[in-house]
Amino acid sequence: KPICLIILGMAGAGKTSFTRRLSSKVINGSRPYLVNLDPACREVPYPANIDIRDTVDYKEVMKQYGLGPNGGIVTALNLFSTKFGQVVDLIEKAGKKHKYCVIDTPGQIEVFTWSASGTIVTETLASSCPTVVVYVMDTVRSVSPVTFMSNMLYACSILYKTRLPFIVVMNKIDVVNNSYAVEWMRDFEAFQEALNADGGGETEGGNTYIGNLTQSMALALDSFYSDLKCCGVSAHTGEGIDEFFKLVDESAEEYEREYKADWLKMR
Ligand code: GDP
Ligand code: MG
Repeated sequence: KPICLIILGMAGAGKTSFTRRLSSKVINGSRPYLVNLDPACREVPYPANIDIRDTVDYKEVMKQYGLGPNGGIVTALNLFSTKFGQVVDLIEKAGKKHKYCVIDTPGQIEVFTWSASGTIVTETLASSCPTVVVYVMDTVRSVSPVTFMSNMLYACSILYKTRLPFIVVMNKIDVVNNSYAVEWMRDFEAFQEALNADGGGETEGGNTYIGNLTQSMALALDSFYSDLKCCGVSAHTGEGIDEFFKLVDESAEEYEREYKADWLKMR
């Protein structure tokens, strides 16, 4: 059975570009098996083995059900998820030839993380194959401490919701190095200083609400950070991809060791 990677992240973080980068990686003589779950992707820039767009036309769904674009995307994914058992059969068979299976998800993260279909897809996969959640973060857009914190809280909420091994991928390091983020995760005081410098912490007029909140959150996130797997990558240049695959293999072992038994019970 292949190791399945569910690629999540905010719109524009680089999920599709990252999937494309992974698609050209040859490991043990084979490339990853590729699944596109974004019904609204105009052009899929990698050779998808399974493409939701071959099964559902989200514009047709919009017309038929009288929906806007968001409703169309959610409904298209709902329709597709009813057939996801068959998709998993194909993925399992692909395991003979492919070590990894990469699953690209819709642009807007909440379509997947806060919908019944996202849950169905995740649970169907996790109860059949070793499955890892990959959270892609935009390193360029997260340089503001408050934005960084919101991104991490989102990651944290997904981690607790999915009960699967989890990797944070800090993308776009060709533009901004992710060392600032690693420092903030390892050293609470460094984060605090950045927050103050940004005007989010103590200001002349006293503490701002958001600054205080962020500070408390950072303390709460400490345990989340402490054993979080993360790596900096560039989907554009390919930097960091080897390091990423090391984390994937560790996560797959973690799945076997700590998660598999629980998922098998749910079948
Ligand atoms: P998605 O919505 O998460 O699928 O994001 P996309 O893969 O469509 O990428 C969003 C934008 O970020 C595009 O303009 C990409 O060219 C850009 N992008 C993605 N990865 C990288 C990267 O590693 N470096 C740089 N500089 N830009 C990137
Ligand atoms: Mg995309």
